[in-house]
Amino acid sequence: MSFKSLGLSEPLLKAISKKGHTTPSPIQEKAIPFILEGRDILASAQTGTGKTAGFTLPMLQILSEGENLRKRPVRALVLTPTRELAAQVLEDVKDYSTFLDLKSHVIFGGVNSAPQIRALRQGVDILVATPGRLLDLHQQKAFTLSNIEILVLDEADRMLDMGFLRDIKKILALMPEKRQNLLFSATFSKDIKQLANTFLTKPVLVEA
Ligand code: AMP
Repeated sequence: MSFKSLGLSEPLLKAISKKGHTTPSPIQEKAIPFILEGRDILASAQTGTGKTAGFTLPMLQILSEGENLRKRPVRALVLTPTRELAAQVLEDVKDYSTFLDLKSHVIFGGVNSAPQIRALRQGVDILVATPGRLLDLHQQKAFTLSNIEILVLDEADRMLDMGFLRDIKKILALMPEKRQNLLFSATFSKDIKQLANTFLTKPVLVEA
């Protein structure tokens, strides 16, 4: 199996080869075609399985094929439990979008929010964020979530463990109902299944 046979476009294949990856990992092989079809995904995947590229590559392809909205309102949101993971995901998003005209940015708590607000006001296609700071800056009207086409919850189990359920529910309420949802979690507790039931539509189950 090759990245090309998964249906990924040339600019992405170029970025993948620049990264040095030659073959898709099992989670990538299973998830990418369904995500490209526009399906919701419920994926069980640990760190180290290549899950980040598994959602990032098809997300970038969908965004690059869609209409590039003027002023770049956020079209894709990736929520992560920690600032370290957010920074890591952004790095992958930037690497894989090297040959695409898409802007990405990261916001997380614990640092001055003024530079984050300034960057957001300049427009961004893909936002990677931790839940608390996202809500904080949304309240300050730094961006809108009303154009979100794709939502990714990364390490959803850790987000629930850290007490982010209420924030996640508030964030879900700020987005249009018609969108694609991708939920990645290392474990599947009752709480995760319940959360999945509240916002995924006929999800494809994918295991790494
Ligand atoms: P992740 O599970 O997303 O944290 O990725 C773990 C590591 O695997 C990262 O350093 C990725 O750059 C790398 N990686 C992702 N996909 C592949 C692949 N298909 N082949 C080799 N390495 C990969």
